Amino acid sequence: MNVLHLTCLVCGKTYRPDDVGYVCPDHGDDGVLDVVYDYERIAASLDREAIAGDDMWALRPLLPIGEGAALPPLRIGGTPLYRSPRLAKRVGVAEVWIKDEGVQPTGSLKDRASAMAIVKADERRVEVITTASTGNAAAALAGVAASVGRATVIFVPAAAPAAKVAQLLAYGARVLLVDGSYDDAVELCLRSAEKLDWYNRTTGFNPYMSEGKKTVAHEIARQLDWHMPDAIFVSVGDGCIVGSLWKGFTDLLELGWIGGIPRIIGVQAAGSAFLAEAWANKEDILTKPPIHPETVADSIAAGAPRDRIKAMRAVVESDGAFVTVSDESILAAIPTVASQAGVFPEPAAAASWAGVEVARETGVISAGDRVVAISTGTGLKDIPAAMRAVSGAGAHAHHVAPDLGSVANALEDLTG
Ligand SMILES: *Cc1c(COP(=O)(O)O)cnc(C)c1O
Ligand SMILES: [Zn+2]
Repeated sequence: MNVLHLTCLVCGKTYRPDDVGYVCPDHGDDGVLDVVYDYERIAASLDREAIAGDDMWALRPLLPIGEGAALPPLRIGGTPLYRSPRLAKRVGVAEVWIKDEGVQPTGSLKDRASAMAIVKADERRVEVITTASTGNAAAALAGVAASVGRATVIFVPAAAPAAKVAQLLAYGARVLLVDGSYDDAVELCLRSAEKLDWYNRTTGFNPYMSEGKKTVAHEIARQLDWHMPDAIFVSVGDGCIVGSLWKGFTDLLELGWIGGIPRIIGVQAAGSAFLAEAWANKEDILTKPPIHPETVADSIAAGAPRDRIKAMRAVVESDGAFVTVSDESILAAIPTVASQAGVFPEPAAAASWAGVEVARETGVISAGDRVVAISTGTGLKDIPAAMRAVSGAGAHAHHVAPDLGSVANALEDLTG
């Protein structure tokens, strides 16, 4: 393994991987750890032209896993990056690329982290894996665990969409619906895992989740032939994905494989904008009180983003920005991305495109820019939201009598 040590992002203290559980003992749940690699050693044995494979394990020397690790059989990562000239034209920038994470086995980017959790639980020989989630992390854990026959216990806030809960049950997870907020579900999960000795996948707590998710950055760099875009947009809830982008690009910069890190733009729902507010007002993210999140994009609702330290670092260090988007613009972005690029996003995934539009209007990005937006999860996850989105956009299906005359009339109606 090429890991040097784990560093507490609050105090800077370093730990050997075997000497620490999940967080810095001196800083409790706030003491999120960062995995630090021996880049010199990696550079000596790895050449970017020699990378083979196109799933998330392609850059395995940059992951915290041993030689003998048993990888889950599902194909995780290797998702397409589509160029969309029509979306580029729509906002007036040089290039737009959509990274479609909706095609992951369980339908969201979270599979990358869950695959890592399965490997780490295996390393520690822990039988049961747990997480708290608004839905997608849970589905990812349940699905990847099912592929290797491992037991999962999942804490979900009772308000999570019923369709997402059904997916968990189908994968055979034991699901606990917590009468409370997402943050309550997280607390309960942390306490249960500690008491019952389960492996805990929870985001912003388990330091390895960012390491799985950073593979999306590695892939984007390879898919663009190492020519970095100017800006990369991703929606932000707990802040793990946005932090992982920075980590993934930092890996490549340290190896000398890319010339610089693209500006990382975190997109938050206006009703769940803890990090965007803290960034705009230069607030201390460790003492800022939690907010009461309210957004149609349930996957990015977070009162106190658990991975806020890594998220803020990503945006600040990359000279990026946070932007906020209204629920209306999030819903409107669903049919925009679907009709202009053929990629069908769930609300949280559509938010990244809504963010591109706002960023262009407010001058955060400009006409010459090459832009990547990550579509983090499939629209099939939340069909009721898609139904609201299309009716909000004025799109509707037409009734016709079963004769050609009716068809002709309807078509005239639709095109006229
Ligand atoms: C989890 C999730 C996000 C946000 O990721 P964080 O790491 O919580 O910021 C965005 N979109 C989708 C579809 C997600 O499932
Ligand atoms: Zn510490």
